[in-house]
Amino acid sequence: MTEQRFLPVNLSGKRVVVTAGAAGIGRVIAEGFLAAGARVHVCDVAPEAIDEIKTDIPEISTSRTDVSDPAAVNAMFDEVERRLGGLDILVNNAGIAGPTGGVTDVSAEALRETLAIDVESMFHCAKRAVPLMRREGLGHVVNLASVAGRLSYPNRTPYAAAKWGVIGFTKSLAMEVGRDGIRVNAILPGHVNTTRFSGLVERRAAALGMSPEDMERRVLDPVALGAKVEREDIANMALYLCSPFGMAISGQAISVCGGVEMMGWK
Ligand code: NAD
Repeated sequence: MTEQRFLPVNLSGKRVVVTAGAAGIGRVIAEGFLAAGARVHVCDVAPEAIDEIKTDIPEISTSRTDVSDPAAVNAMFDEVERRLGGLDILVNNAGIAGPTGGVTDVSAEALRETLAIDVESMFHCAKRAVPLMRREGLGHVVNLASVAGRLSYPNRTPYAAAKWGVIGFTKSLAMEVGRDGIRVNAILPGHVNTTRFSGLVERRAAALGMSPEDMERRVLDPVALGAKVEREDIANMALYLCSPFGMAISGQAISVCGGVEMMGWK
């Protein structure tokens, strides 16, 4: 028997936008919604990633959009309205790791870029998505935060500040739009089994003169399950929240992390 990859929910007829959805966690989220029968549009800033998803999954429509740019986000939503005729689900997935270093080393430019992509982009997208969802009297916004949005993360203060900001945005927006039938939640991934995680492990290991294997063991030590999570685990939480089973859930920050109690990059 082949293993089931995604939660078997039926979202046929739903129209979904996944930001930064051409690669990484976003792409798997997009694949999950497609498997549930939804119509999916992804945007991304990387042309190669867009070409790849276009070739692999032609049913998913795409646009090249930098979500930190409000004008580009507006153009993307104009296109989404034309193509899909409305919107039911927005997954604000875009987020960069930002700079690593002490607060005295972080440049103003790197800080601004992190906040612009990781938090401001969510405002730009919600500004256009909420009126479309109000029209339906129903909608879901899912924001990708991180366990860095509920724990301290020394030497990654811009990322931590951005992700704590995502939680505040999520809870406040949920109160603002709940009476319009719109649910707003955040997912907090832990250490996800991606090239981004292995890259961070390798760089940190090199800086401390350790092997990547020892570094990974150190990082996973303060995790209850002692393991990374998969991109599908994140996608399945998004599917659950946007399915009929998730209708009672709004304003929540839900960790999908195996129980991360400390960020271990010191
Ligand atoms: P990633 O680094 O793999 O990037 C995914 C895509 O984002 C890429 O295709 C990239 O081109 C696109 N992108 C980057 N900047 C963009 C922009 N300005 N506009 C549009 N697209 C842009 O990301 P990921 O690891 O899949 O992470 C996805 C989300 O999950 C992020 O918000 C991230 O902070 C969060 N997260 C990831 C992890 C992890 O371990 N990977 C852990 C916790 C939280």
